[in-house]
Amino acid sequence: MSKHVILLGAPGVGKGTLGQQVVKRAGLAYVSTGDMLRAEVAAKTELGNKIASILAAGELVSDDLVNELIKKAISKPEAQKGFMIDGYPRTLYQAKSLEAMPQGKIDVVFNIELPAEEIVRRISSRRSCPKCKAVYNLIYSPPNKEGICDRCGAQLVTRADDNPDTIRNRIAVYEKNTKPLVEYYEKKGLLVRIDSSGNDNEPKIRDMLAIIGK
Ligand code: AMP
Repeated sequence: MSKHVILLGAPGVGKGTLGQQVVKRAGLAYVSTGDMLRAEVAAKTELGNKIASILAAGELVSDDLVNELIKKAISKPEAQKGFMIDGYPRTLYQAKSLEAMPQGKIDVVFNIELPAEEIVRRISSRRSCPKCKAVYNLIYSPPNKEGICDRCGAQLVTRADDNPDTIRNRIAVYEKNTKPLVEYYEKKGLLVRIDSSGNDNEPKIRDMLAIIGK
């Protein structure tokens, strides 16, 4: 049966890194609202120009906008084999909107957890590939060749919103808007906590695969 999975967690806990490994091995579609929004900004579309300053400040874009993006993404043919959503829902309203979507029934919600001081350390050493979206960490998982993506050879970048001021605001926004979702999904019996500390991702990935039955 196709699985519908959500990744929750504060910015910088390693959601993207773990999520991408799990979807590769589980054969799920990976859906990231952050990646979709950054692609709009990079392509300088009308929408991209409108939201660039919101992303740069670490604020949330409107619920209606991300609801539309997700509705489209999870109804695509490649999502019918199952999907994992990273970065959505981020508000209670988004969570309820997802439930009302035709493909919006959720089987598992992983809450990726990491102590606050570790979060700041990880975010400031994060680099990502603008082309294939691979994520690296200069401390834990550096690329083979400095500054170059192992997977596709593109030049790695630091995300525009990975600077200390924006990081602080993103964490505050998470605490206020998104953290309540942990309790929300816990009450529904869907929440599974994953401890993201430590360098070795393999045991965490295996746990996640076992939980989604892969
Ligand atoms: P992320 O890559 O998930 O950290 O997202 C980067 C930025 O995109 C966030 O700081 C928000 O500005 C915006 N964003 C991503 N997902 C959402 C969402 N579900 N709701 C509102 N804003 C979002």
